Amino acid sequence: MATTEPLLAWEPPLIQPHRVGEINKFGRRPRDKNVTRVFDVDIEALKAKYGSPLFVTSEAKLRGNIRRIKRAFEVRYGNVSHGYSYKTNYISAICNILHQEGSLAEVVSAFEYEKARLLGVPGERIIFNGPNKGRAILERAIAEGAMINIDHLDELQLIEAVAKEQGRLATVSLRLNFETGFTEPWSRFGFNLESGQAHQAAKLAVLSPHIRLKGLHSHIGTFILEPRAYQEQVKIMCKFMRDLESREDVCIDTIDIGGGLPSRNALQGIYLPPEQVVPSISEYAEAICTTLTDETLYRSSTNRPLPKLVLESGRAVVDDAQSLIVTVAGTKRLPDGRQAAILDAGTNLLFTAYWYNHQVELVTPPRGPPEETVLYGPLCMNIDVVRSSVQLPPLQVGDTMVISPTGAYNNTQWMQFIEYRPNVVLVHEDGDVSVIREAENLQSMVAHDRLPDHLRRPEAVR
Ligand SMILES: *Cc1c(COP(=O)(O)O)cnc(C)c1O
Repeated sequence: MATTEPLLAWEPPLIQPHRVGEINKFGRRPRDKNVTRVFDVDIEALKAKYGSPLFVTSEAKLRGNIRRIKRAFEVRYGNVSHGYSYKTNYISAICNILHQEGSLAEVVSAFEYEKARLLGVPGERIIFNGPNKGRAILERAIAEGAMINIDHLDELQLIEAVAKEQGRLATVSLRLNFETGFTEPWSRFGFNLESGQAHQAAKLAVLSPHIRLKGLHSHIGTFILEPRAYQEQVKIMCKFMRDLESREDVCIDTIDIGGGLPSRNALQGIYLPPEQVVPSISEYAEAICTTLTDETLYRSSTNRPLPKLVLESGRAVVDDAQSLIVTVAGTKRLPDGRQAAILDAGTNLLFTAYWYNHQVELVTPPRGPPEETVLYGPLCMNIDVVRSSVQLPPLQVGDTMVISPTGAYNNTQWMQFIEYRPNVVLVHEDGDVSVIREAENLQSMVAHDRLPDHLRRPEAVR
């Protein structure tokens, strides 16, 4: 029988040993191709212009993320607001992008409150959380009509005293903590529900002529991988609302469920890739909105309004909108044979390296097959490890890599230790690039130091 298929050229068989990190039931093999662009901008050009390390943020991604999250909730529930969690990343340009998208400011300290006001956010559009609200900032927040979520009894009394002095009615919500059965309860924040503390606090607030209790708040954790945790949270909050309204003369109009939605980042200790582990935003929105609708159905036969749903998502909004460009400063062979590289950025800039296995991609074209590699940071500190095990080709000084996602909790939890903090740039929607936070320099580093007269000269004077 004649064959119509052309014969394939013979290739010698290639046997490759199975290596850690190769394709297996836990996930895909690492890329052995290099990447050249981040957020559609040439990486080497960015590095040449703005230096390394360099945080690169995408305006389009940020706007896309918040729109997607808001839409997922808005199509399922009529009355939704998003408060952007400043502590997740409070670089001014990032906050303002989110404010332009309609997000409130969610702040947890005097500094963050003042920053939101400096950016032009009116008091009524600030959600004031946190366990350490001093008198001075509370005076300002009450005068400016901020939404204050009370953390503890001393704060409740302080708010009452300040509101009384000002002759104002302070509008507040109570932060609650309780057992959902899914996450470790954060009992250090807010009033505990099971012990009756929350009811007591609510009663005090309702009876005070200087306080208007209008909402309930809780934040059950971060990187919550289980939509049912939120379902349980909403159920418990709604039950508390209903009980409270039946006992006291009060109408709750806001249910604030905090943040905690995960990003597509790889938590250490979880072997499946994030695309398989992290549920979609719609799954969370569905769980939350369906439960809220069910649990507030009874209100249609009362004259009570359906509560506004407030989300305070931070991580899911900004994490994948930023990457970090880094450069190899040196390489070595470890005694056990593994390749190691010292990078110009470590846990000083990448606090989340303690929790995540960030994706690391080589920008420089690969010189050979990947091998197991350890990536160290530049600090003189043993725990400064960016990745303890990652597959990378042979590395040389000057090689460029891009680490992602880095947008959540790095630009706020980075530490000024040993090294200057670098430039942060924004890729605008039209592709232009601008600096949104300048690199530190010697001047900015010593700006807060003060030298008493007798220490102005370093020579010892005895
Ligand atoms: C940190 C925090 C958030 C944001 O949490 P994410 O996990 O980043 O979404 C929201 N609300 C409160 C009260 C917080 O402390």
